[in-house]
Amino acid sequence: MDNINFNADVIVVGAGPAGISAAISIADEGKKVVLIEKASYPGSKNMYGGAVYTSALKEIFKQDFDSIPYERIINSHTWAFLNETGSFDITYSNKESASAYAIKRFNLERWMIDCAKKRGVYYIPNTLVKKLIQIDSKVVGVETELEQYFAPITIIADGVNSLLARELKLRNNYNTKDIILSVKETIKLDKKTIEERFNLSSDCKDGVNKQYFGYDFKSLKNIKKLFMMSFLYTFKDTVMIGVGASLEDLSKNKLNINQILDEVKSHPEIYPLIEGGETIEYSAHLIPEGGYKKIPKLTSNGVIIAGDAAGFINSVHFEGTNFALISGKLAGESAVYSLNQGDYSESTLNIYVKKLQKSFILKDLYSYRNVIEKLCSRSDSIEVYYPKKIKELFEIITSANCISKSSQIRNYAFSFFKDRSPKELLKDAFAFIKCAIDVFFGK
Ligand SMILES: Cc1cc2nc3c(=O)[nH]c(=O)nc-3n(C[C@H](O)[C@H](O)[C@H](O)COP(=O)(O)OP(=O)(O)OC[C@H]3O[C@@H](n4cnc5c(N)ncnc54)[C@H](O)[C@@H]3O)c2cc1C
Repeated sequence: MDNINFNADVIVVGAGPAGISAAISIADEGKKVVLIEKASYPGSKNMYGGAVYTSALKEIFKQDFDSIPYERIINSHTWAFLNETGSFDITYSNKESASAYAIKRFNLERWMIDCAKKRGVYYIPNTLVKKLIQIDSKVVGVETELEQYFAPITIIADGVNSLLARELKLRNNYNTKDIILSVKETIKLDKKTIEERFNLSSDCKDGVNKQYFGYDFKSLKNIKKLFMMSFLYTFKDTVMIGVGASLEDLSKNKLNINQILDEVKSHPEIYPLIEGGETIEYSAHLIPEGGYKKIPKLTSNGVIIAGDAAGFINSVHFEGTNFALISGKLAGESAVYSLNQGDYSESTLNIYVKKLQKSFILKDLYSYRNVIEKLCSRSDSIEVYYPKKIKELFEIITSANCISKSSQIRNYAFSFFKDRSPKELLKDAFAFIKCAIDVFFGK
């Protein structure tokens, strides 16, 4: 170590939200930090649904927050259960809320990089880190296609695939049930049409996020076990619509995720929202979904892992950028602490784990540790059976068909026991109660 000529105090690999925020928190402390990104254009390799949560951004980009290039404030949230011909929706909207913004990823990353450079981060784009350089089981730098960079600490923020964390054997390959494959279309519509269809004001001060459950679609009739979620976000003059499902469910059902997206887009509740639009972008990305049980080893000598690379995501609430930003910040702070101690060993860098434990990151991942597994185990109930039963109930409530309501409601109640065994109904109830208890009691 003593004879290595270090180029920087810290190297950060990956300029997504985790890497940028890590680099900023290091530069803010007057340390020399190099941020290496394989893409030539910030954000061009990255993809998400569309909403970035503002509280984490405000914490990290305080002084620049007002210049953030958002397109709409997302202040209306709908959870919709799709049945074959319609949907049952729950909408929460708050016109005063600004907790999430619709921002395109390349605009978000470009803005974050500009802020980072102003705060002293040395940014190297268009450079793929091929491997880590190790001496005596300590990481001392990285090797790119053209050269080597040396620093006593490296922060790995290279996203869901994290070849570097796998190279160090801090993380195993994901099991197919712990990885979601998601595809998304960006559909261009004119601004006025979006405002009319989604009942939005013309000043971009409001926007919509919809999460859809249910796949009682024509071509998916025989599918038995599939847990999928679809989403839609309004932007200024585009709508983003996408869907995700685990690789395990897709391969077991021999399903192509594009086929599911086509079905979602043609659903009678969704088609009128995007009708006449032009698809201007089609993208796909993986989402780590192993949660708390699949968190890798987070530090080693000279190394910290942050963001998607560490599997920090709460896919129940589509939260990922906030986990990435805050875990990056905590990784950066931990690196600075170790630099000040002059000790880059795993045990000193483990202050990162303690910081994560105190933050919402490990608390939330812990309290949601069983949720996705339970929802997947009851996917047929959530995605098909209950949306159908809700439809039946509302058919009774909303039609005047000259049959007494009480007899219809009685028949409806008994139909649960005809459709399903008491054991299956109990399993559904138990899964929901278990999730609620876990989330309520948390950590
Ligand atoms: C379909 C979808 C919808 C989502 N919706 C939302 C949402 O609405 N809200 C939300 O908060 N989150 C959402 N997320 C999650 C969110 O996008 C991620 O959690 C977040 O981007 C993770 O940030 P990160 O910095 O850890 O990784 P990334 O954003 O993946 O960044 C990693 C960076 O590392 C670079 N890189 C990788 N390998 C190398 C290498 N070897 N050398 C150099 N550079 C490298 C990549 O090019 C990339 O820029 C969604 C994700 C998906 C896939």
